[in-house]
Amino acid sequence: MRCPFCGHSDTSVKDSRTTDDQAAIRRRRICSECGSRFTTFERIQLRDLMVVKKNGEHVPFDREKLVRSVSSAMQKHSLDPDKIERIVSSIVRQLETSGETDISTHVIGEMVMRSLFNLDPVAYVRFASIYKDFANVHDFIDCISLMEQQSKETNIDKQAHIEPNN
Ligand SMILES: [Zn+2]
Repeated sequence: MRCPFCGHSDTSVKDSRTTDDQAAIRRRRICSECGSRFTTFERIQLRDLMVVKKNGEHVPFDREKLVRSVSSAMQKHSLDPDKIERIVSSIVRQLETSGETDISTHVIGEMVMRSLFNLDPVAYVRFASIYKDFANVHDFIDCISLMEQQSKETNIDKQAHIEPNN
């Protein structure tokens, strides 16, 4: 980035960190020519986020598509727009603050799985079956066993956090 004081094109980043609201990356820069210091903020605009598909194709991030994909994992009777909105917003926020502009479908899939895991276990298994392309019933059994195991571990964690206060 060009120095705003002397116009020299070689400035370096001294340190970079996310802002308190996690919505931007703040970089402190220094000009190697005149020694001036200045700060830049890097924010991601959603329309510039690109999704890298399995076949390597880059397509613009489509929020609505993510909503449809999460909705399709939910059972009709438990389809809750607020719940879906919370999941999608949280994922989008994470993408916005990740600092990456090219996001693989794999990363997004894993994020959806993580969000569904605690919120809606049935939707989690349904989503996993599509996303991981389950071939037979054993894949379902493996997925559910893993889920039970992880939820046990989570409960142990919760207890460990609660105990010191009791
Ligand atoms: Zn300069």
